Amino acid sequence: MLAILKLDLAGQPRRWLTVHEAVTAYARGDVLYGIGDALPPILGGTQRLTGLRSQITVQPIIATAGRIRDVFTPPLCNRTLFRRDDHTCLYCGQRFNRTALTRDHVIPVSRGGRDRWENVVAACKRCNWIKDNKTPEEAGMPLLAIPFRPNAYEWHFLAKERVLTDQMHYLSKQFKAHRAWAH
Ligand SMILES: [Zn+2]
Repeated sequence: MLAILKLDLAGQPRRWLTVHEAVTAYARGDVLYGIGDALPPILGGTQRLTGLRSQITVQPIIATAGRIRDVFTPPLCNRTLFRRDDHTCLYCGQRFNRTALTRDHVIPVSRGGRDRWENVVAACKRCNWIKDNKTPEEAGMPLLAIPFRPNAYEWHFLAKERVLTDQMHYLSKQFKAHRAWAH
């Protein structure tokens, strides 16, 4: 689904909007500026006096007024986690479908490991089963990459299947991680 990237005044990605939500933001006058090539115009209601239909032009990235958030906490879900790890098991290095992957806690939860970005990786079911309740060192299964917490730009990219060229260009300028998806 096509989505519009919403920024705060400071240019930080805040969330993905549906096109309908973006149109509402334009109609309310909340949009401070837009970035990128305009999408095909969206027709609004017919104006009673003129009989003409109103048109709203939406850009793929819009900045709106409102509070500037200093700290972005990227929500952790498997879909986004597996995309961070490029659908690759970080133990055996093979690629899998989403359904064949699991969320592995590098330091197991039972051993005090936290359910957070820095302690979770995509793992195939087999590797997860073999690693069991052990650390990678104990299991003799070194990680192929360091798990990282995505920044706001990385997370918004990872959270969406379909990203428009202008959106990709805007987000990728602030990618910090060196992973295959970032190129
Ligand atoms: Zn594996």
